[in-house]
Amino acid sequence: MNERRYAFLQEMGLGPVWTRRTAVAEPASDDVASAALQQLSEEEPAMSAAVPLAAVPAIAESAAGDTGGMDWEQLQAAVASCTKCGLCRGRTKTVFGVGDRQAKWLFVGEGPGRNEDAQGLPFVGPAGKLLDNMLLAMGLKRGDNTYIANIVKCRPTDGNKRDRPPEPDETHACMPYLERQIALINPTVIVALGKTAALSLLGLDPATPVGKLRGRVHRYMDLPLVVTYHPAYLLRNLRDKGKVWADLCLAMQTHDAAGA
Ligand code: SF4
Repeated sequence: MNERRYAFLQEMGLGPVWTRRTAVAEPASDDVASAALQQLSEEEPAMSAAVPLAAVPAIAESAAGDTGGMDWEQLQAAVASCTKCGLCRGRTKTVFGVGDRQAKWLFVGEGPGRNEDAQGLPFVGPAGKLLDNMLLAMGLKRGDNTYIANIVKCRPTDGNKRDRPPEPDETHACMPYLERQIALINPTVIVALGKTAALSLLGLDPATPVGKLRGRVHRYMDLPLVVTYHPAYLLRNLRDKGKVWADLCLAMQTHDAAGA
């Protein structure tokens, strides 16, 4: 097993599970990304070929909000006092995002859950720990050349106070904040964590399966964007760990190809 993959397994705390999986032969070379992508293609041979570029104007339209000229402090203050959608009524804290504001890597999730809402930070709790371990396996760490944000800044809950995905109107209301964050950061690669992040950033139909978006490099504006599963999903579906590893390999290849 090459060193990079081994580190990934160990950092994710999934080593024994991963090592039992032998469907993909260990690479004769050290090109783990190619091997992972080979695994991906074997698992999802019907993956579609292209992202509709027609999705992009929807993002551009949403970006035409009032955040366009804001600096970081103005943006953070605007989020903290925001009442643009109904999620403001149930929040404890807004969750603006965290990390290096000149980061090459941007990771985008769906929205705050219970722990995030209480602490005002994205990706805390078990899913956050897994994300941190994924970052470590990639040679990254939270706050150092990485920025982590969500599609919506306030916690969406259902009538029983359980977490739920944000509704389209909530996503639309909140997207200008993330769009301004992306413009200020200007990352080299965006990693969309889960369906809500991927579809919102790419402006695609809500019925689009995440599986059809994985395994290739999309564009958010001019920035490369790679789609993978949300860490919370991965915690519930460990069988998909190989797919996540393939996605992260693709993201690293994309980053390296950009010469960043
Ligand atoms: Fe404002 Fe976004 Fe919170 Fe809605 S989710 S209230 S748009 S910050």
